[in-house]
Amino acid sequence: MIEQGNKSNMLKTLNNLSVRLRRKRCRPDQLLLLFSSCLQRSSCDGNVVGSLDNCRRCGQCVVCQFLDLADELGVNVFLATGGRLAAEKARDPKIKAIVAVACGKELSEGIKATFPKPVLVQELTTPNGPCKDTQVDFQAVRKAVEYFLR
Ligand code: SF4
Repeated sequence: MIEQGNKSNMLKTLNNLSVRLRRKRCRPDQLLLLFSSCLQRSSCDGNVVGSLDNCRRCGQCVVCQFLDLADELGVNVFLATGGRLAAEKARDPKIKAIVAVACGKELSEGIKATFPKPVLVQELTTPNGPCKDTQVDFQAVRKAVEYFLR
C-alpha cells in the first residue's frame, strides 16, 4: 500500500513531468511566482505579509531572492498566507503559468485547485520544524521560472 506522503510526492513528481511535457511557455507578465509566508525569517519584524515592499532585502532570508528574481525577470510575485488565497491569485485570467513554493500538502492541493493551468512545484524543507524558518533550493525555483520563459 502506498503511504499518504509517498502518494503526495508522486503527484508532485508526475505533475512537474507532465507540465514539462506540455512545453508551455508564457511571457513574464503572465507568470505567477507564489511562495509561502513561512519562508520569511521568524525574527524579522518586516510586515511582508502586509506588503512585500516591507522587505528591506537584508539578505537574511530567501524572501529578498524572490523579489530580486521578480525584478530581474519581470514576473509577478505573491506571498501566500494560505492555499485559498494562492488559488484565487492563480485563477486570475491573465496568469498563464505558475511556479509554487510551499509545503507538500499545500502543493498537492494547489495543483488540483489551479488545474488545468500549468504549475511547476518546488517543495520547501523544514529543518526548524513545521512552518518555521523554512528553506528552499532557490536555484531550482529560478530554473522553474526560466523554464516557462525560455
Ligand atoms: S530579506 Fe530580510 S527584511 Fe526581507 S523578509 Fe527576509 S529577513 Fe526580513
